[in-house]
Amino acid sequence: MIILENVSKHYQNRDKSRFAAVAPTDLHIRAGEIFGLMGYSGAGKSTLLRLINLLERPDTGKVLVDKQDLTAMNDAALRRARQNIGMIFQQFNLLANRTVEQNVAFPLEIAGWTAEQIRPRVAECLEIVGLTERAGHYPAQLSGGQKQRVGIARALAPKPHVMLADEPTSALDPATTRSVLGCLQDINARFGVTIVIVTHEMSVIRRLCHRTALLDKGKLLEVADVQNGEVLAQS
Ligand code: ADP
Ligand code: ADP
Repeated sequence: MIILENVSKHYQNRDKSRFAAVAPTDLHIRAGEIFGLMGYSGAGKSTLLRLINLLERPDTGKVLVDKQDLTAMNDAALRRARQNIGMIFQQFNLLANRTVEQNVAFPLEIAGWTAEQIRPRVAECLEIVGLTERAGHYPAQLSGGQKQRVGIARALAPKPHVMLADEPTSALDPATTRSVLGCLQDINARFGVTIVIVTHEMSVIRRLCHRTALLDKGKLLEVADVQNGEVLAQS
């Protein structure tokens, strides 16, 4: 589903020298799996995630999602391809002056859906994340966990095959974390959406992921299976 071939990304230090935020990396994420990217702060997790939808342009290598080479696309083709890749953020990134349902409708408007197409799909997505009752509320009226479930509904709305989640529960307390993880698990099980989740929390990996990779100083150290909450040896 997601193939990274020799993908790398470099940034400049203050003294203008370059360092590899992500060293040349090969990674294959399978269709329908929940894949965790683990590592300490600064390890390159967020950069690696943003390389998957080309929010960051790789310096080397190729990125394929759903057999399409994103690195070979022009801007218009890339915008279309990105509708297949939902993104979920640590700080939710909701539009404060739009209601819950308007937030969820937003990516569909951008994608050119008609009002008749948008209305039932928004209702469906709010039902999936359990927020039907909050449709007319504004983000400021919601708890953190509810805001993140709006973020999930928004990411899900265009029917993506892939969802990328960057520390989706780091701003949440344990009980709320459980409800958000349950929501992601449900979406994966019901619709087969492939999910890549960045986290520094081992509990998130144990509870949610099928496989996990450990990133350290921009290098992918190891890929392992997760079964019954246990991280198994390298696979
Ligand atoms: P993580 O998500 O694991 O905390 P990041 O991918 O955010 O790590 O960052 C990896 C390294 O790259 C860090 O040293 C970070 O400061 C640096 N970095 C990330 N984005 C940029 C950028 N746009 N410009 C320069 N340095 C960056
Ligand atoms: P978040 O964790 O919410 O993504 P970050 O602080 O990691 O926020 O990054 C915010 C923005 O700043 C991102 O676009 C990231 O690429 C960029 N960034 C991160 N680290 C650095 C850095 N050391 N120098 C310049 N830009 C950075």
